[in-house]
Amino acid sequence: MASSNQQPVHHFLLVPLMSQSHLIPFTDLAKVLADHGQQVTIVMTPLNAARFNNAIIDYAMNFNLKIQFLLLSFPGQEAGLPKGCENLDSLPSLDLTAKFFQASNMLHEPLEKWLQDLESLPSCIISDICLPWTSDLALKFKIPRVVFHTVSCFTLLCSHNIKRYEVQDGITSDSEPVLVPGVPDRIEFTKAQLPESQRKSSDDLNNLVNQFKEAELSASAVLVNSFEEMESGYVKAYQKFVNNLWCIGPLSLCNETTSNKLRTGNKTSIDEHESLNWLNSHKSRSVIYVCFGSLSHMLPPQLIELGLGLEASNCPFIWTIKKIDYTPELEKWFKEQRFEERIKGRGLIIRGWAPQVQILSHPATGGFFTHCGWNSTIEGVSAGLPMITWPMFAEQFYNEKFVVQILKIGVKIGVEVPMNAKVLTVKREDVKKAIKQLVDGGDDAEERRKRAKKLGEMAKRAVEKGGSSYLNATLLIEHVNQQGKSYQR
Ligand code: UDP
Repeated sequence: MASSNQQPVHHFLLVPLMSQSHLIPFTDLAKVLADHGQQVTIVMTPLNAARFNNAIIDYAMNFNLKIQFLLLSFPGQEAGLPKGCENLDSLPSLDLTAKFFQASNMLHEPLEKWLQDLESLPSCIISDICLPWTSDLALKFKIPRVVFHTVSCFTLLCSHNIKRYEVQDGITSDSEPVLVPGVPDRIEFTKAQLPESQRKSSDDLNNLVNQFKEAELSASAVLVNSFEEMESGYVKAYQKFVNNLWCIGPLSLCNETTSNKLRTGNKTSIDEHESLNWLNSHKSRSVIYVCFGSLSHMLPPQLIELGLGLEASNCPFIWTIKKIDYTPELEKWFKEQRFEERIKGRGLIIRGWAPQVQILSHPATGGFFTHCGWNSTIEGVSAGLPMITWPMFAEQFYNEKFVVQILKIGVKIGVEVPMNAKVLTVKREDVKKAIKQLVDGGDDAEERRKRAKKLGEMAKRAVEKGGSSYLNATLLIEHVNQQGKSYQR
């Protein structure tokens, strides 16, 4: 069978980790594949399906695309998680992460059963790097398997070389800068800034990292939510270590219409018209958007300090505070200090989930204050925005380095170690200073804005018909075609 653009039609089975920063790019990937005429099934659990229904199923119906959910119940309670925890962002504490991964691994059995009962198997499994058991399934059912990374090639190459050259082994101090070997630029990190899996050493952690690596090496192709023009040296260098590395992003750009930009993995906590009207009332490129992803948490003293810094900056801002962080203590402070009255007209607070992609791409938005999660980073790049960077954990220090040192579109807030909720890491003066540097920083700020704008234009070209990421998606489909033929022989 062939799609309207004469590409063969395959059935892709997408298996994401149940976390917003994985589900969002996976569902965007589903849209891209379906746009190329392909049929897509995405593994979901009931509560996540409810969150993504609008973003995917309604979207697929509106555009006549072949996307469906495969609902598997999440064995969270069997793994010792509280009821209702089906997504990393719903864990009461990140200390439960190991149990969450245990539950994610238990999806192996029901997925195997589903495959067993099928009359016709999927043509390809695209699985999350965090779910290495999918390689056993693919082998058992003789289905080609592709790995999808939700980080950059810069991060992949730095991590790979730090491990390969055992860089961290000889380092005793957490604050000593170490040079990353074998990368196109001079890149240094301290041990404290490396992701936990590289900083700490335990048999369990090493075992897990080795499983991820094996699953990546044995995949027939590797997809990355990035685009070649942005990090070509890193793409080329990492291509030597894996089979068929293809950048297919920025995936968030598949949501071109305003209503789709709203629909990213949750019901938004603000009415579309309210945020749009508010943004429409501000000058072009004047607003700073502040949001720290789906997982990081802050205690009231840090949030208050941040709020006071935003107020002192005199710059218009939209500030997203997670529901769980909007504690009675914070609410009391807001009320007693009449904070919202003080910032009225100049500051908008969203309590809960913001329509991030929509806000970033609005002409009034001029900067992004981010925790440097990769999805947020690439969404900021796609919107052509300069950024203020406050990395907190995981691979976020890699992303900060990439944004500030390589792309030269970021201003560091100045944290050098991962977030410790008990410590007041960022002071109001730091916030004020970073915003001033981003907005009024003279020639440097202007150059930063120009570079960011140019990158945004490059990102859009990459996903347009004929662009590098568009072509890579067609290469993937062609690859699955070839793989299918060799499996049948
Ligand atoms: N996001 C959003 N609204 C929010 C918070 C987050 O739409 O209020 C989206 C954001 O656009 C991004 C994802 O959630 O796509 C967060 O992923 P990221 O990798 O940036 O960070 P993480 O959640 O892993 O820390």
